Amino acid sequence: MGLSGWLGGRELSKALFIKTWGCQMNVYDSARMADVLAPVGYRPVDRAEDADMVILNTCHIREKAAEKVFSELGRLRALKRRKAMAGGRLIIAVAGCVGQAEGAEIMARAPYVDMVFGPQTFHRLPEMVAAADAAPGQGVLDTEFPAESKFDFLPEEQGTQGISAFLAIQEGCDRFCTYCVVPYTRGAEFSRPAADVLAEARRLLKGGAVEITLLGQNVNAWKGEAPGGGDWGLGRLLREVAQLDGLGRLRYTTSHPSDMDDDLIAAHAEIPALMPFVHLPVQSGSDRILAAMNRRHTADDYRRVVEKLRASRPDIGLSSDFIVGFPGETEADFADTLRLIEETGYAQAYSFKYSPRPGTPAAGLDDAQIPDAVKTERLAALQALVNTQQLAFNRAMVGRTMAVLFDRPGRRPGQLLGRSPYMQAVHAEAGPERLGTLAEVRIGGAHANSLSGRLVEAANRDAGPPLEASA
Ligand code: SF4
Repeated sequence: MGLSGWLGGRELSKALFIKTWGCQMNVYDSARMADVLAPVGYRPVDRAEDADMVILNTCHIREKAAEKVFSELGRLRALKRRKAMAGGRLIIAVAGCVGQAEGAEIMARAPYVDMVFGPQTFHRLPEMVAAADAAPGQGVLDTEFPAESKFDFLPEEQGTQGISAFLAIQEGCDRFCTYCVVPYTRGAEFSRPAADVLAEARRLLKGGAVEITLLGQNVNAWKGEAPGGGDWGLGRLLREVAQLDGLGRLRYTTSHPSDMDDDLIAAHAEIPALMPFVHLPVQSGSDRILAAMNRRHTADDYRRVVEKLRASRPDIGLSSDFIVGFPGETEADFADTLRLIEETGYAQAYSFKYSPRPGTPAAGLDDAQIPDAVKTERLAALQALVNTQQLAFNRAMVGRTMAVLFDRPGRRPGQLLGRSPYMQAVHAEAGPERLGTLAEVRIGGAHANSLSGRLVEAANRDAGPPLEASA
């Protein structure tokens, strides 16, 4: 029965399981849903089987997103039946971008679902639960874009995210890239006031966070009300957050190249806690395709931003997103993308075959869709290039000493796993007392997806033996 239980006929608490797909914003939203439901008695558990309520916090970015949700719902329907036969009850909810985009269809195809809501309405969860309790089997659908901002109604963040915490500062997007559902599922751009962001950052640090990542769909479009009036941009906000006691590391994601202003770029030179790593999606290296994507920047605009970032912070590492096989992409367009990758040099990158998202302009370009076999071939070529760059970037770390934030046990006993400033996974022999701390590690081994090293004091003590790869 998980954490739920009864005492003297009074329900003490109910168990909540949230399954999260997709981006860091969804991870953040799931934590906030748990905060919203805590005052009405829900406590998180690790398995759907133990839960009184299961929320699927969904993502609409990947291919066949809705089908994956429906197949998960099929499993939950069976669980709901088993619980009902045992005299219990399971509330099933669909949240996130699939809920927002396909709410009515979910209600029609899966009538056993109790609640469907989008990313902008989960602050109303207690009311939705009350409505679902009052009329079981009726289904509660709340996918309107409310006039109020959910941030004004969410309870204070509980500071329980742990060592590495996400903090949403911006949501929604006004850019309308032709392949992307975000402007439709998350709505118009909204920036939280600076005072709210700083207050939440203080709570996270008090709750044990060492690293904070500021989040937004288009995070560097953040333009928030300043405490004394007027607006701040992201560069100023980063400088203010960096001054808070207890902060070890600061990051932000995801950025649009056109919103990378000079003040933000200068912040990279000035703030020691700001990690030298930026995720800066470009999607394509072809101006023709960038225009068709409505990215509103050229490949050369992107190159100039990279140049400025490197001038500001010469050791900066970059990652990016690439879409291959966008409608109308020719071999020459794809060659432009490979050229941009070769010139830029990435620490890592995410790449995907284009697949149409219902309701987006590019999905209607039927004549120009690229055959899947071509997309597969291009994706393999692009990933081979990026993998070579990633391995070279990792190998360049060997022999260097860097701060690692240990955030979980390693695969072997006596080992911890942490993150380098460049988000690389780093394995090292270290005792559990190091968990949640930053420690200096000398890197001895580099692999495709991770590094290995030794704590500096251990390396010094042993004086001399070659550092071995241990992962
Ligand atoms: S900038 Fe990013 S979130 Fe906004 S529409 Fe383009 S891809 Fe989507």
